[in-house]
Amino acid sequence: MAEAVLYVIATPIGNLGDLSARAIKLLSEVDLIAAEDTRHTGRLLSHFSIKSSLVSVHDHNEIARAELIIDYLSQGKRVALVSDAGTPLISDPGYGLVKRVREAGFNVSPVPGCCAFVAALSAAGLPSDRFMFIGFLPAKTQARVKQLSELVDQTCTLIFYESTHRILVSLDDMISVYGDHREAVIAREITKTFETFKHGTLADLKAWMLTDANQQKGEFVVLVRGAEPVDDKVDQIDARSAHVLGLLAAELPPKKAAAIAAEITGIHKKQLYEYLLQRD
Ligand code: SAM
Repeated sequence: MAEAVLYVIATPIGNLGDLSARAIKLLSEVDLIAAEDTRHTGRLLSHFSIKSSLVSVHDHNEIARAELIIDYLSQGKRVALVSDAGTPLISDPGYGLVKRVREAGFNVSPVPGCCAFVAALSAAGLPSDRFMFIGFLPAKTQARVKQLSELVDQTCTLIFYESTHRILVSLDDMISVYGDHREAVIAREITKTFETFKHGTLADLKAWMLTDANQQKGEFVVLVRGAEPVDDKVDQIDARSAHVLGLLAAELPPKKAAAIAAEITGIHKKQLYEYLLQRD
């Protein structure tokens, strides 16, 4: 008998060719597929002639469904979890189910594939070494502005999901919090016919969307370049240490002044030296 396992399977975000061979095989073999929307997933399965049974799992029945799925797993059966598009649990249902299945002691195994924000980041041309995935912003303006404001000093790339209904108001709020000139990329309809990556300042992107209403349609990932890093090491130099350094620098070459000030203050001499150079 196959080992009981819950597979968390990524599905395409537009192009059906992106469903992996392993995903197709496992979706065909499992005893049950738990899907966010059974009609939506039914269409995907029929495209690939997959006949496995479907059951719905969404935010409102996840806990109850977890009991059913744990029951399947207890019988040594295999179950798959899918969402409408992309990777389950990423701005999609599934967290409650995965948590409970793990707590019940069963294996949960990912079958990786599409994820809209990873696809967007991989092609946007913004820094990808450090990023923060935020997902959907709140629907209400006040809450949206508050969340954007909390991120204003983040230096990593910020990644948001957005829909047709809110793309313009969200861009407006990003402009009001981050300023006209913050660099950003809109990744629209990734892997679909009208895939578009548009790079510019937030103000450029807003203007571009306003001049072409077609660009306001579809699904969006918005990537915003992080804030310029503040040289916080230099900022950390307190007033007294700066005063000592200033007195020494008035009499000595900068390197010597920094070295002696380092002995007095305990601050690293390189940091003090950089402070002097920036001050001058
Ligand atoms: N679980 C999905 C994933 O792994 O990316 C995300 C699901 S979330 C409900 C749907 C949002 O993902 C959309 O509103 C959009 O922001 C983004 N998205 C999904 N497909 C996309 C695509 N083809 N192009 C751009 N954004 C997409």
